[in-house]
Amino acid sequence: MDDNFGFEREAALNKEESFDALIVGAGPAGSFAAERLARGGARVALFDGRPAEDAKACGGGVTSKALKAWPFLLEAGGRLVSEVEMCSPAGRSVRLELSEPFAIYSRRALDSHLRERARRAGAEVFEGRVSAATARNETGEWVVHARGGESWSGRVLVAADGANSPIARRLAGALTNSEMEVAFGYRTPLAETDDAPTVIAFLPGWAGYAWAFPRLDHISFGIATAQDTFDHKALDRLLWGFMVGYYRRRAGGLSPLWSSTAEPSLEAGGCEIEERLRRVAERYAARIPGLAPETFDARRAAGDDWALLGDAAGFADPVTGEGIFYALRSAELFADAFLRGEVSAYEAMWRADFGRELRRASQMRRRFYGDFWGGAFTDRMIGFARLHRGIRRTLCELVVGDQSYLDLKPTLARRAAWPL
Ligand SMILES: Cc1cc2nc3c(=O)[nH]c(=O)nc-3n(C[C@H](O)[C@H](O)[C@H](O)COP(=O)(O)OP(=O)(O)OC[C@H]3O[C@@H](n4cnc5c(N)ncnc54)[C@H](O)[C@@H]3O)c2cc1C
Repeated sequence: MDDNFGFEREAALNKEESFDALIVGAGPAGSFAAERLARGGARVALFDGRPAEDAKACGGGVTSKALKAWPFLLEAGGRLVSEVEMCSPAGRSVRLELSEPFAIYSRRALDSHLRERARRAGAEVFEGRVSAATARNETGEWVVHARGGESWSGRVLVAADGANSPIARRLAGALTNSEMEVAFGYRTPLAETDDAPTVIAFLPGWAGYAWAFPRLDHISFGIATAQDTFDHKALDRLLWGFMVGYYRRRAGGLSPLWSSTAEPSLEAGGCEIEERLRRVAERYAARIPGLAPETFDARRAAGDDWALLGDAAGFADPVTGEGIFYALRSAELFADAFLRGEVSAYEAMWRADFGRELRRASQMRRRFYGDFWGGAFTDRMIGFARLHRGIRRTLCELVVGDQSYLDLKPTLARRAAWPL
């Protein structure tokens, strides 16, 4: 058994209810793991610290790769998208027609769907945050406490408590600022029947991108960029320019999504749109992990009786910030390891399954948001994609999750030889 990481051993508390697994966090990772464990016959406690009215800050985009792996996700009521506009930092854009749609979810809907599946499978769901100061009792079981004094014990502790996980910090070590992305944005209303376009736009002057993701009844706008170069005022201004440009285009204008002026909203018509949006927009912000390659090599996500899942483990794509797929896949792999009685085997399983892919994405991040042939790589890529169907096809496959970073270079080289 692993050591207890310096936590104090606690006196056994007779009132504790004991479980096979304590899962902290009922996002996609925690709920899916709880469902799989409960289906396999384990006694599971799932702690849901998110108040019902509070949605996780997220674009809610789920790739077709994920929809194919877990078709039940379609029951959670996302909006299916089969066309995406991709826009470069210089304002050039390309329309990508996807061979398979991806889905955009309201996180409230997705999370509650997954949590209810866990409950139906037999997991016990406890509402409210539990203390991160996890400890062990005298029989060696993990113990978590609620603010009200209640406590629960369990043989295995699972941290599925998101990007800021204090449990993961204790068990696997802290991440640096450069290994965190900051993402923030606004939700604005949308009529259900409105066919609003889905847009991904690479930022001029920053690593990262902005998005407009229409969901069933609102649009999620946002920006994701590196935490260590984050300049809130400038990025917020950029995002408002993007949102105003988006609405102005929908009103029939030929507005660019990136305005070249310092105050894009002050251009004709923009001010009025911005005033209207500011009255209704709901702001959100959160962090997404984006681990360095060396951290992927060194940081563990499992011991004999503990595991980290999803964002708590740092499992998000460092180029795109996509984390829902990895949250679900890590939950599935962990559950397989748990049910065969070998929790620590999860470590080798995630590495073999998607570890190399995430590590490769981490290596590519700098190049992806860097320069190439005297201009931004993303500008060049979109410029080529406008002209070349082979490059366009590769971009489509990247968006839907079917193109791995591991063979991206040879695929691009091969397809660049296709006729235009
Ligand atoms: C702005 C933004 C946009 C994003 N867009 C996308 C996207 O379009 N597509 C995509 O794939 N990914 C996206 N991501 C990443 C994605 O949101 C995460 O990777 C994903 O939610 C990870 O799932 P998780 O279950 O690991 O963690 P989370 O979804 O963060 O769930 C963790 C849960 O743990 C709970 N919790 C925390 N502490 C405690 C505690 N002490 N006790 C009890 N409960 C606790 C939290 O309340 C939360 O419900 C985005 C992220 C951000 C910030």
